[in-house]
Amino acid sequence: SKAAGRNSFHFYTQEMNIEANRRLQLEEQLHNALDRNELRLLYQPVVDLKTRKIVGAEALLRWDSKELGAISPEEFIPVAEHTGLIVEIGKFVLDDALRTTSRWIKTFIPDFHIAINLSPRQFRDPHLIDNIESFVNSYGLEGRNLELEITEGVLMSQHADVEEAIAKLTQKGISISMDDFGTGYSSLSYLRSYPFNILKVDRSFINDISVDAADLELVNASIDMAHGLGLKVIAEGVETEEQTALLLRKNCDMAQGYYFSKPIPADELEEILKKQTSH
Ligand code: C2E
Ligand code: CA
Ligand code: CA
Ligand code: CA
Repeated sequence: SKAAGRNSFHFYTQEMNIEANRRLQLEEQLHNALDRNELRLLYQPVVDLKTRKIVGAEALLRWDSKELGAISPEEFIPVAEHTGLIVEIGKFVLDDALRTTSRWIKTFIPDFHIAINLSPRQFRDPHLIDNIESFVNSYGLEGRNLELEITEGVLMSQHADVEEAIAKLTQKGISISMDDFGTGYSSLSYLRSYPFNILKVDRSFINDISVDAADLELVNASIDMAHGLGLKVIAEGVETEEQTALLLRKNCDMAQGYYFSKPIPADELEEILKKQTSH
């Protein structure tokens, strides 16, 4: 009826208002988040499946807003991307992660690699490559210590510069990972066109490998294909010993997930790494 239609329309606009307001609040607060020291990094260990030792970590951003409380990156990264704030925030992430890990790399774990997520918008920053280079140099790191994770979104943004940027980074020995592999529509064609070093199989494929034969077969095929192309494979979202054993049997190289460790603060990871290297 007409009345019901009007009601649902009213309901719809109200929902939209709430969402739009939330977004506006996030935008407003995110502008000050860096200055107020509300952003910090956690580190999730990446484990070599054969030795079960930590060989690297992914830096993951956290925002504890004084006004709004803890906000998930799933919610604020898109806002940062949309407003362009990701350029400044991304620079903070690179600086902080590379400074922190360079101390460990230089004193006790030279082969450690730190993985950093890059958003599409960051590739439109003409200073991106120079910034990365100067952080790597000024913290005394080698290119091989750094791994940059990009998703299909970066490649879809269709900036001629992306290809050039990736080529320059690769020349410096920096690794490029394809993040969330399998979730997009064109993973395979991008794998063919860009010089990736690492393939990260998305958590949604790993979830059910111990109960779903089709999922296990897809993961197995992804690993074989990646190896055929000369890439290493990291399984994301590993939560059980059963998944770990299956992945090892399928020759997966590395794993990351709650089974090994949640994302943790830098000082906690440093303690774990020190114990690991002293054995
Ligand atoms: P991502 O790059 O795919 O990161 C992996 C996400 O999976 C992280 O969520 C991590 O905490 C979560 N995770 C890891 N192991 C497990 C597991 O065993 N089970 C489950 N259920 N989840 C697991 P988080 O930290 O909430 O980050 C979400 C997304 O936000 C990231 O997804 C990434 O796309 C984005 N993000 C985080 N930090 C940054 C950043 O510094 N820059 C950019 N551009 N994006 C970031
Ligand atoms: Ca990632
Ligand atoms: Ca991922
Ligand atoms: Ca399934």
